[in-house]
Amino acid sequence: MLAVAEQFLPRIRRNEPMSRHTSWHVGGPAEIYFTPSDRTDLAAFLRDVPANVPVCWVGLGSNLLVRDGGISGVVISTQGTLDRLERVGPDTVYGEAGVACARIARQCIKWGLGPAEFFAGIPGTLGGALAMNAGAFGGETWRHVVEVETIDRRGGEHRRTASDYRVSYRHVEPPVAEEWFLGARLRFEVRPPEHRSEVTELLERRKATQPIGEWSCGSVFTNPPGDHAARLIEASGLKGLRIGDASVSLKHANFIINHGAATAADVESLIGRVQSEVERAHGVRLHPEVRMVGQTVEERR
Ligand SMILES: Cc1cc2nc3c(=O)[nH]c(=O)nc-3n(C[C@H](O)[C@H](O)[C@H](O)COP(=O)(O)OP(=O)(O)OC[C@H]3O[C@@H](n4cnc5c(N)ncnc54)[C@H](O)[C@@H]3O)c2cc1C
Repeated sequence: MLAVAEQFLPRIRRNEPMSRHTSWHVGGPAEIYFTPSDRTDLAAFLRDVPANVPVCWVGLGSNLLVRDGGISGVVISTQGTLDRLERVGPDTVYGEAGVACARIARQCIKWGLGPAEFFAGIPGTLGGALAMNAGAFGGETWRHVVEVETIDRRGGEHRRTASDYRVSYRHVEPPVAEEWFLGARLRFEVRPPEHRSEVTELLERRKATQPIGEWSCGSVFTNPPGDHAARLIEASGLKGLRIGDASVSLKHANFIINHGAATAADVESLIGRVQSEVERAHGVRLHPEVRMVGQTVEERR
């Protein structure tokens, strides 16, 4: 059993089911699940984790498929912590990694800054949005990043500018491995006071076209250049395809739904099946947007 210093015990849970922390509601246990009280606590904890113990980060788990055997080592969660959000200049805001994207959207509207409405429909944290370059309705996280603060495995903090990262569609390549986001400075345009917010309109558009409210991870695959993953999946006749209690959504073909009792293995098998069927029908290999972590039950044995 992994030893943890006494000072951290109130904030760790052992064998914590990750199904409680992912929007698919699947996933085996995290060996150690740690929610830091603040950055100092986080840095001290990281310094204490032996170098050979794997470290995994989770925000709101809205883009994560955790396998049924769970995650060995340490999971660091920013859910409900590291959530400071403030305006730091006429057109600039600072957010910590645990701030919910929806809050950034709401607050920017109040501050007369934009365009930040796209954040409203992303059910994750700023940390997750930075890791994924999350985007919607033409907006994208990294278009607004001026600078990020990161923390490394030894608890050392760093400041990096946006140009230190190679960023593309749903892809962010950090300059060094094993450095995670603590926060970011984001720049927006100053909006005239009469500027009408489009949030309600965007959320309604989303509700009309996506299975919002069901257990999913949003879009499973990235769109291939010049096409849409949903179109290819639908054209391959895969809407409604089911493995166990997981199925391809009838409303939006790029969503996979857990109907209540799906396992991560069901979801992963369905992802593989969709990939091979689309490739067979259209010659296009779809790439998962969702991050898959952890071990299968067989690997865990
Ligand atoms: C209904 C629904 C709709 C969605 N719509 C969209 C959409 O329109 N556009 C879009 O882009 N996405 C969408 N998503 C996917 C998801 O919300 C985004 O990818 C989001 O940015 C993930 O944030 P998170 O905090 O949940 O990250 P998690 O799912 O917890 O983690 C995602 C990745 O980020 C890493 N990570 C998390 N926090 C940090 C950190 N602080 N530092 C470093 N790495 C970190 C994790 O290790 C993991 O690799 C949707 C999901 C759902 C369920």
